[in-house]
Amino acid sequence: MEVLTQGCRDPAQLPVSRLRQGNLFMSSCPDEYRDCFGKGTSVMSFVYRTVLDVLHRSGLARASRGTCRGVGVVFMLHRVLPATFSAASTTGTAGDAFAPNAGLAITPEFLDAAIAITRQQGYDIIPLREVPARLAAAREGKARRPFAAFTLDDGYRDNMEHAWEVFRRHEAPFTIFVAPAYADGEGELWWDALEQVIRANDVLHCDLPGLPRSIPMVSAADKQAAWDMLYPAIRYMDEHAQREFIIRFAARHGVDVHQQCRELIMDWNELREIAADELCDIGAHTLHHRALARTPEDEARHEMAASRQRLQQELGVAADMLAYPYGDADSAGPREFALARELGFTLALTTRKGHLYAEHADHLTALPRLSLNGFYQQPHYLDVLLSGLPFLLYNRFRRLNVA
Ligand SMILES: [Zn+2]
Repeated sequence: MEVLTQGCRDPAQLPVSRLRQGNLFMSSCPDEYRDCFGKGTSVMSFVYRTVLDVLHRSGLARASRGTCRGVGVVFMLHRVLPATFSAASTTGTAGDAFAPNAGLAITPEFLDAAIAITRQQGYDIIPLREVPARLAAAREGKARRPFAAFTLDDGYRDNMEHAWEVFRRHEAPFTIFVAPAYADGEGELWWDALEQVIRANDVLHCDLPGLPRSIPMVSAADKQAAWDMLYPAIRYMDEHAQREFIIRFAARHGVDVHQQCRELIMDWNELREIAADELCDIGAHTLHHRALARTPEDEARHEMAASRQRLQQELGVAADMLAYPYGDADSAGPREFALARELGFTLALTTRKGHLYAEHADHLTALPRLSLNGFYQQPHYLDVLLSGLPFLLYNRFRRLNVA
């Protein structure tokens, strides 16, 4: 288990495996939705986009559906925002756009289409908590129609303002994963804070080793370059050093991280309101949104258990399902899968990419998801992802990725 030391690593020193974490077939909070870090992002994005287009246009995805598709999928979303809020850069036309977190947001219209397409393809949209029973049935050879469950991480307020109505219209159940520190308004959405800092300033003053002390930014491209430098440096800091850094760094550049948290995330009253809808379930997302695998075991256990307790107290919900923050292999591994079992979570979700297969019935605390990514809001991409083929290609035809 790797525990990084205080401070940051030079992004250039990051192992290739980490650079590979965020590619398109997928996504999550806050880095799994990225095509890759730093230089080459546009090239990689082009490659992945091309792969998806080829799989679609060739008919391969559709033809392989019967053999590649799993018994179900769990969709992962973060933000749902009207297009006027979403990043213009997702269109690739606005040269002045700087919107590095745009992959986290889809429009209500795309959510609407995704639900409709999923049902058109024969999937039952089910509450997440029914997934273990569906997997058990599949293992016994009693799989019925394929199933899909919708999840939203972090509890962004736009879930209530823009997504809720779409789910209600379709009578589609959904689960929101909440980190209590965020609902308290005392958490750090460091990726959003970094974006706001870069957006609002012309010069960054930085004291991170290996990075320039002063980073002037004139154009949107300069801002993107600054993001590409700073994002990986912050992402892989020690978990506590990371939060201390972003609070200090943001304040120095005129951004109050906790004020931003209160603006972006539902408070407890709002969570009570949405949780009262029988379509909505609430799951645990650790107390402080920690990358658990890079956290000492006692702290990781506490982050998981106490987040559940707090959600039970505040919302009167079971909160017996967990989504690992970040959810990639660097943030949740075998130790966390065992801890989640030990603590009695009925299932736990990673951001590893893939469909669910019957074999996942034996790995309920290491389930993969399928991201709805703001950079790829086209129905034909969804069509390809639902075929299962890109995930099997990505996972080299392994159905399980739980080690
Ligand atoms: Zn999260």
